Amino acid sequence: MTNHRDTPIEIQKEDFKKIGYQLIDTIADFFDTIDDYPVTKGESPIQLQKILGTSSFPEQATPAEEIIIRASDLLLNHSLFNGHPRFMGYITSSPAPIGVLADLMAAAINQNVGAQVLSPMATEIEKQTVKWLAEFIGVSPNYGGILVSGGNMANFTAFLAARTAKAPMNIKEEGLAANQSKLIAYCSKTTHTWVEKAAILCGHGSKQTRWIPTDAFNKIDTVILEKTIKEDLKNGHQPFMVVGTAGDVSTGVVDNLKEIAAICKTYDLWFHIDGAYGVPAAIIPELKATFEGLKDADSIALDPHKWLYAPLEAGCTLVKKPQHLLDAYSSHPEYYHFNKTEDLKAQNYYEYGLQNSRGFRALKVWMAFQQVGRKGYAKMIREDIELSELLFKLANKHNELEAVSQNLSITTFRYVPTDVPHDDKNSMTYLNTLNEALLQALELGGEVFFSNAIVKDSYCLRSCIVNFRTSKKDIEEIIEIVVREGRIMHKKLHTNQL
Ligand SMILES: *Cc1c(COP(=O)(O)O)cnc(C)c1O
Repeated sequence: MTNHRDTPIEIQKEDFKKIGYQLIDTIADFFDTIDDYPVTKGESPIQLQKILGTSSFPEQATPAEEIIIRASDLLLNHSLFNGHPRFMGYITSSPAPIGVLADLMAAAINQNVGAQVLSPMATEIEKQTVKWLAEFIGVSPNYGGILVSGGNMANFTAFLAARTAKAPMNIKEEGLAANQSKLIAYCSKTTHTWVEKAAILCGHGSKQTRWIPTDAFNKIDTVILEKTIKEDLKNGHQPFMVVGTAGDVSTGVVDNLKEIAAICKTYDLWFHIDGAYGVPAAIIPELKATFEGLKDADSIALDPHKWLYAPLEAGCTLVKKPQHLLDAYSSHPEYYHFNKTEDLKAQNYYEYGLQNSRGFRALKVWMAFQQVGRKGYAKMIREDIELSELLFKLANKHNELEAVSQNLSITTFRYVPTDVPHDDKNSMTYLNTLNEALLQALELGGEVFFSNAIVKDSYCLRSCIVNFRTSKKDIEEIIEIVVREGRIMHKKLHTNQL
């Protein structure tokens, strides 16, 4: 190092070790005592700005050690911890500690996994990770794919591949206008909003998405799906893809994938599965029937940063025929001199998706797979599901709670005071107001963190457990917390109404 240019950004070896070890100590203590922290302090943006301070651009240099100590202090004392055992909002997992170390290492080696020549071993590790992801969920290891930032990008990546494959004319050269018949995508009305964004951003327009109603089980109604496809064909439109959801965001329901696959086959449509949250549950033998049809998908979106506990960000697009990604994304500008000879021919990830320069997201997934193995993941995912079932059971048993739905690791339920009748219209409205206020109070309280779901017009507390730290004791205590806070909120709202 002594021969290097003298710059203000380099940190000398001994300093790097000292500061680095301190940081690792801080993180290790944090993981060890995370239960003692509030899930969140619920501070307002104004409070946070006060704490952060309003200093303008740093003209003066500050020692690295000081900066890291201050950043640790700010983040450890003013964050929402999705690694906390009682965080069960949205679908954000506890980060696997090995993934935390992987990200540090990935940053240090700083591979640009857009091109093989810039990331020789990292590219091979990503290829292996993609293959393992396919093997893990039980589809053919010949599926190919790419790691992306998350579920939205994983679904967009597949959406564009689907339309390139299915448009009547060459969409890359001729564009949408030449494909005059309208390209229509189909999905259930519970599908995540990415599908709307995709239709807008890709120039189809949101009216070119058919939001198919769901059946009594909240799955896409495949009879209406087929009827709608037939009508569109009759009207000269060009159906091109059907999206099946494997674990919908609100209630965790998995569509009937097998029936969708059959319809796609009949009408020559691209079958995409949005399994961003739920697909890892396909490794649980008891759920085999639920995921039947998975192997027929032309593409699958899944998020290692959800149920595989990878730290943000990690999503993945898998495609049955990797060539479909190349068809959509490959181009060869003259300033790239890759792939000159056949024996050096390499996989360049910039040709498989939207990004050009790309970070090394695969490392954290690849490491966790090895640390835990199939058995380890099956154990954690099964336990997450069992805890969610326990929450449902306990809510169902409690006379002040109503258990509403339970699928995969998502439970919805609500607080219903004993003196409020269940069935008239006024109490419906009141219960929705009460539970919305209760959710807000619980979030600010910092003891537990849920998000919400509207199930059959009822405002519900929604718990999604993708959290290897949550235990049975947490679930039992959560029931008490919700009832305690529910009573307080009911009293408050009731008094206000009188
Ligand atoms: C989370 C989720 C998404 C969006 O994924 P991000 O990682 O937040 O971009 C899309 N679809 C489903 C089913 C999801 O659960």
